[in-house]
Amino acid sequence: MTILEVALPTPLRRRFDYLLPGNWSGDNPMPGSRVKVPFGNQELIGLLITCKSHSHLAEHKLKPALEILDEIPVMDTELLELSLWAADYYQCAPGEALQTALPVLLRQGVPAHLAGETVFTLTPEGKGLPQGALKRSPKQAALLAALQQQDYLRRSDLAPLGISRPILKQLQDKGLVETKELLPERPDTLHLLREQPLVLGDEQTKVMASLHTEGFTTYLLDGATGSGKTEIYLQAIEKVLTQGKQALVLVPEIGLTPQTLARFHRRFAAPVVTLHSGLNDRERLDAWLQARAGHASIIIGTRSAIFTPLAKPGIIIVDEEHDGSFKQQDGFRYSARDLAVMRAQRLGIPLILGSATPSLESLHNAQSQRYQHLQLRARAGSAIPPELRLLDIRNQALHEGFAAASLAAIDATLKAGNQVLVFLNRRGYAPALECHACGWLAQCNHCDARLTLHQSPRHLHCHHCDHQRAVPHTCPECKSPQLFPLGQGTERSESALQQLFPQVPVIRVDRDSTRAKDGMQKLLAGVHQGIPCILVGTQMLAKGHHFADVTLVVIIDADAGLFSTDFRGPERMGQLLLQVAGRAGRAEKPGQVLIQSYHSDHPLMQTLVSRGYHTLAEQILHERQLTQMPPYRHLALLRAESQRPELALQFLERARLLAEDTLPPSPLLSYLGPLPAMMEKRGDRFRYQLQFNAAQRKPLQQLLSQLALQLEADPLGRRVRWALDVDPQEM
Ligand code: ADP
Ligand code: ZN
Ligand code: ZN
Repeated sequence: MTILEVALPTPLRRRFDYLLPGNWSGDNPMPGSRVKVPFGNQELIGLLITCKSHSHLAEHKLKPALEILDEIPVMDTELLELSLWAADYYQCAPGEALQTALPVLLRQGVPAHLAGETVFTLTPEGKGLPQGALKRSPKQAALLAALQQQDYLRRSDLAPLGISRPILKQLQDKGLVETKELLPERPDTLHLLREQPLVLGDEQTKVMASLHTEGFTTYLLDGATGSGKTEIYLQAIEKVLTQGKQALVLVPEIGLTPQTLARFHRRFAAPVVTLHSGLNDRERLDAWLQARAGHASIIIGTRSAIFTPLAKPGIIIVDEEHDGSFKQQDGFRYSARDLAVMRAQRLGIPLILGSATPSLESLHNAQSQRYQHLQLRARAGSAIPPELRLLDIRNQALHEGFAAASLAAIDATLKAGNQVLVFLNRRGYAPALECHACGWLAQCNHCDARLTLHQSPRHLHCHHCDHQRAVPHTCPECKSPQLFPLGQGTERSESALQQLFPQVPVIRVDRDSTRAKDGMQKLLAGVHQGIPCILVGTQMLAKGHHFADVTLVVIIDADAGLFSTDFRGPERMGQLLLQVAGRAGRAEKPGQVLIQSYHSDHPLMQTLVSRGYHTLAEQILHERQLTQMPPYRHLALLRAESQRPELALQFLERARLLAEDTLPPSPLLSYLGPLPAMMEKRGDRFRYQLQFNAAQRKPLQQLLSQLALQLEADPLGRRVRWALDVDPQEM
């Protein structure tokens, strides 16, 4: 007897058994095929994991599947196994992991059919007509003549020939013309390049020589912004394409800029597809299928693109590997960067992790020789690295958040005909609204957070739960009309700068100003023409963009990460400041970076500015070793939230008891909590977490798998919202 073991889109951490459909004849369906099955009183589409001969359920309890949707599996074995491995590792239901890996349309049951381009061609009967036939209708004759000269016509060919839809239809009705589907051709390995690669500098040459494009190795390509990492990616990809293989390139969520894409298209004649959040479902599926069929040579995408099927995998590249967006923060909480290591290893292909500010995990892996460390120290071409300067702003009169020295530098830069970038990682007008009379602050009713004041349109906005409210005219506590914005947001800096420097455009780049489709591109069009201007923006500006004429960067609130309760705060601060700093002076013009700080004598800040990111990283790594934190230990969080705080707490206490029952606390595994999350109340829910800190992955994994099943079965587990987060990025 054949039993189908199926992963279904439910949050349950198990697989489900079914019989073959009643009318089934022939060979067993292949793993990775979609299966439609009855589930309670609904029908679900799942994925066949394996066919087996025994079930732990009695035969009369098994139901037949309704339909096998694929003859050729939508998911090949490699991808199926990777997804199931990831589901296990990240403690997620297999069905949920597979949901992430499959494009939406496939989950809905749409045929996995690569849509080709519809073209027009002659039927055999049409081909039988003599030259110059159909004379009575000149337009029909013209169409016929055109098709007698070339095999087929594309839709776009019709208008220039003066052929309209009705003419075409007439010939189709006569049975002379038909449509056919034209599939994209396989890439041609002889004509890969559109432009010649750059001549590599000495460091780049050494890096390229150490980079082998056969076999599995993880390379950490550690090179300052502008040192020529992208050129290394392009040349490594070229080698792989020459072997007839594909390249998968992962970029951070907002790092996929038109500039980056244009660079790939300029270099390669081979087909490039992109997978990102701006695609509609059909476009996403097409890109996925093209990768699967091997028609796409280069696949560039954000986090979930790690699950793209590859016909001929050749290399994986993760750009800005330190970026937090590679970790999914809800549902299936996987890290695309870490999965890239696993996938490359399984495929036996090289992986390049690139960054100017590598994560401490990757640096540690490089130090312990798990990764091969490749370094680029100098900037490529003639560019000079920017100079970093700390501006101590204690006891200084600030004008709208700006120190006098910052304003003078901005003025001088603009006068010299250059551009300025002002970085402030807070959108809106001001992060708080305060009553001058009694000190009242506008708070969100649903979160432990202040409401941000926005000016255009004017309203109060919670950036955590999206709650919005009108701005009050008087203080709700004391009725005073003296309500003032407190602190700086991008809108406020924008308007202050516009008043101070009315002669140049001030361009604000944040989530609000770029909301429209292509918003970012339109905003930045002027900037790329090189006219003197001021850019004000959040971290959206820090990623992926190249601003050749920016020679001054002013960082307004550098201190945010220094005192964060998240142990990764200082690491993130260092990465962000250097990424922003890296925007300055990328071309021939040297750049300057001013960092305003209230804590300019803080040792971490001092190290970063005077000795650079790598020394900072060493210092933080040393601290992590002493405090027994990653990368020296392995963390997991059990998160729970509920509108009733006592329920979430009770749930976590129970979980801790269950866990300690299995693995008592020891130097190899310690428990911490339940403790409140960084923001205890958010969106009306109270949030807590239990932390697991283990010396080794394996026992932690086993403990968590068992615990997850116990908690799934626990009645309290159904009354709170809970999740396991393995290798959490946010505490
Ligand atoms: P990164 O990815 O490290 O920021 P890029 O590869 O984008 O660096 O290089 C930065 C700039 O230097 C780009 O304008 C690039 O065209 C140029 N560049 C890179 N390598 C070379 C080279 N070997 N010779 C000349 N210019 C180069
Ligand atoms: Zn008041
Ligand atoms: Zn809120």
